[in-house]
Amino acid sequence: MAESVIQLKCNCNSYPWGKKGKQSLAARLCSQTNPDFEIDDSKEYSEMWFGTYPELPAYSLKTGQDLQEILKEQKDKLIGKKVHDRFGADLPFLPKILSIAKALPLQIHPDKKLSEKLHEEDPEKFSDPNHKPEIAVALSKFEAFVGFKPNADVQELMRIEALEDFLPKKADGINVSDEETLRQITTNMLKADEKTVESTMKKLQSTPKDQLGKHAYILDLIPRLKDQYGVTDNGNLVALICMNFLVLDAGQALYIPADGIHAYLSGDIVECMARSNNVINTGFCPRADRDSVDLFTRALTFKQHDPDEPILDRKQSDKGRNGKTVELKPPMSEFNMLVTELSKDEKETIEAVQGPSTLIVTSGSGKLSAGGQEHDLPEGSIFFIGQGVEVKYTAKDILVVYRAYAE
Ligand SMILES: [Zn+2]
Repeated sequence: MAESVIQLKCNCNSYPWGKKGKQSLAARLCSQTNPDFEIDDSKEYSEMWFGTYPELPAYSLKTGQDLQEILKEQKDKLIGKKVHDRFGADLPFLPKILSIAKALPLQIHPDKKLSEKLHEEDPEKFSDPNHKPEIAVALSKFEAFVGFKPNADVQELMRIEALEDFLPKKADGINVSDEETLRQITTNMLKADEKTVESTMKKLQSTPKDQLGKHAYILDLIPRLKDQYGVTDNGNLVALICMNFLVLDAGQALYIPADGIHAYLSGDIVECMARSNNVINTGFCPRADRDSVDLFTRALTFKQHDPDEPILDRKQSDKGRNGKTVELKPPMSEFNMLVTELSKDEKETIEAVQGPSTLIVTSGSGKLSAGGQEHDLPEGSIFFIGQGVEVKYTAKDILVVYRAYAE
């Protein structure tokens, strides 16, 4: 009979945008629990996953068994009927720690309808039929391009002479919607040849600061982006001109709806998403790795947003009895996240959740009491907690725990 509280060991992947060696928080946290994981200082470590997705699954630290298998064997006890009936014998979410040294590919995750279609057409590349709304919580200063700028801002920037050629050619007397105009600008930028991108970037950089007004930050970002993927990357133009640029402090969280455009630029984050690995990339990656611009723009929503619209509220959770826990509730997704922050010797009790969950200690240490047992909770430790189990944390010094759950 499986226990309801299972300590996990996990692994990191090595996409080239990850931080190197011990600079990567993902790698450091991973190495603190997984005895088989050794940090190689010459290697990039981008993401540690602590879910059941087969590409990078979590295992029981004690027995080495794949968490997915354990859940299948004990679905009634560990997942519970409610979540099992909706999502099957699995974790319906996939939490990760990301350590970002340079921009991730400019990307969108297709919604359910398109994912089903793409998965049927090309199951190798689109490995599941699910949508992938995601949240990102900053563990340090976190920079990201998220969603399209409000129309007035895009229009203001498009007055810069260097960008004229990307405007749609308007037939006289025809009124085009703002969304359609933005779709055409974005498509033109993504389809531009390398020479055009390069010369536009040069002209942009020589634009006087006062002409850019509140968008003057673009001048600081140009050299950084140039260093990362080169001056000819089409992602540069779309991110700088059309997208909102957000800088989050540690603890702040943002939400990306399915089919929303985003590219994370730097920082360490806790990320959680629906159980999916579907992504359509274009820009901020080698040309050969890019998906077709037509597929990208077909999947994309051209809704325009205020920059702070994706920021998630941190609401005190009624699951935490001592008021030390906030809850992040992204709309339209299969999961929520509980964040517990304790000072020295403080305690928190989290009421039983009616579904599966996984937690990670991102800093500090303490004890975990759950299912009639006490466990050490050192930094980097990761646990699966089955449904219906009350959890108590006690901080030794400080203790910060992120816990994703579904119910
Ligand atoms: Zn994403």
